[in-house]
Amino acid sequence: MNYKINKEGIISLEHRYWILSGELNDFSISELDTIIKDMNNVLEGKYSSSSFSKNIITVNFDNQKVIIEDLDKVIGEEKTTLFFKAIKELINIKRKNLTSLDNLNELIFSVTNINFLDIVILKEKHFEYNHPKVTIHFNCLKCCCNNNVDIINYQTGRNFNDLVELGKIDVEYLLKNDIVRYDKAISKYYIIQKLPTLYELLSCDSCQEKYMMFFSLGEYQPGRDICEVSGLLRIDLGKEV
Ligand SMILES: [Zn+2]
Repeated sequence: MNYKINKEGIISLEHRYWILSGELNDFSISELDTIIKDMNNVLEGKYSSSSFSKNIITVNFDNQKVIIEDLDKVIGEEKTTLFFKAIKELINIKRKNLTSLDNLNELIFSVTNINFLDIVILKEKHFEYNHPKVTIHFNCLKCCCNNNVDIINYQTGRNFNDLVELGKIDVEYLLKNDIVRYDKAISKYYIIQKLPTLYELLSCDSCQEKYMMFFSLGEYQPGRDICEVSGLLRIDLGKEV
């Protein structure tokens, strides 16, 4: 199977697979990771066959060959090992391009687990949210450089409960250190100040050490928006899967 992957992480397979190229380029890193894990399991004999599909393309594979179908028509057969290699290469190039904060958060999906190393002591944790943003200051524990992080309503933060479902973090550790709270009477979800817990992955501006910030932001009382940063942790992003 002939293919090219450019430095932006866009794959072009040989011409007859042009629709498949488009579909592969639509997959996120985490979706590609799921495909590669599945394919690896088939190659290792954990199960005999599997498939993935998107729109009109279906890719069926066993440990020998990959059959690519467009609607119900077979458009090609390839060796599973070669197909696996191409997807793996695509993921690696995409991962190298992870620079923006959005992409940084994608990293979570491509590692086995997230280890909490240290808790950063913050001077201030409670903020009235009257302005377009709240800025958090902290010194990197590794290089001591000062970092400023903006929290912007509806822009910063991802849902902590989704992260819990992924099973890659030690929730007990966060509960024990009062970084997240769980109160069945108020909500079935993890909360901070009665508001849903959000998280954001951060990277030190100067040494790229990784941190994870936990916070809540929203209307605490009518007309009063608050932001509470309940924890900032230096983390280690486990092994790549
Ligand atoms: Zn640093």
